[in-house]
Amino acid sequence: MLYDGKAKTIFEGPTSDTVIQYFKDDATANNAEKHAIIDGKGVLNNSISDFLMRKIQEIGIPTHYIKKINMREQLVKKVEIIPIEVLVRNYFAGSLSKKFCIKEGTPLADTLIEYCLKSDELGDPHISSEHILNIGLCSFDELELIDEYSLRINDILRGIFYSIGINLIDFKLEFGICKKTKEVILADEISPDTCRLWDLKTNKKLDKDRFRRDLGDVEGAYQEVLERLDIKS
Ligand code: UDP
Repeated sequence: MLYDGKAKTIFEGPTSDTVIQYFKDDATANNAEKHAIIDGKGVLNNSISDFLMRKIQEIGIPTHYIKKINMREQLVKKVEIIPIEVLVRNYFAGSLSKKFCIKEGTPLADTLIEYCLKSDELGDPHISSEHILNIGLCSFDELELIDEYSLRINDILRGIFYSIGINLIDFKLEFGICKKTKEVILADEISPDTCRLWDLKTNKKLDKDRFRRDLGDVEGAYQEVLERLDIKS
């Protein structure tokens, strides 16, 4: 084992430039103050993330994706994670709604990118691009690529979800520097744990807000996303 995270564990891979991502059933919120086991969540997120990473790879954005190994594990390229969470938003929701006191679901005039520092000790504070560059969390060129990739990923994901009657409200991305090629690549996962997904007609939440806000049937909602994406896992 190389690293035990909140929702995933990382194990050594078969070669020095690969690792295995194991998807757990653990769900946490409020910086791990709230914790629960959601039976089957890891299996669903593994399949959903595998599917979406492949779609992103297909449009030419480099990702850590190699292959799904089994129900809970994927083989991925080893990266050094850039310690930034990139939040991509199409609508007001969550912390942004709170900050400006604007109703969740209100459309943004344009796609908004925000950044948080990846630090559990500090509670993932929001930071600016100036902070990132001044502190040296990544280079100017790397940040430019991160922004460009994030907007393109938003375009493809919005289309994929729209076609199955789901509105992509916002999501979180993490990037890393590939150990082998030294290029910036998309890492981590894309799943209902890291996206806000609302049914287009009813606005029913099909994502981790069901857990954060005690709305019930978290697994059923994740299962619905898998089924609508028509993923044969
Ligand atoms: N998000 C995430 N991990 C985090 C923080 C946010 O995956 O540690 C995702 C979250 O699911 C949402 C988006 O990023 O899709 C925007 O999150 P926001 O800042 O509104 O999160 P909140 O404060 O409401 O948890």
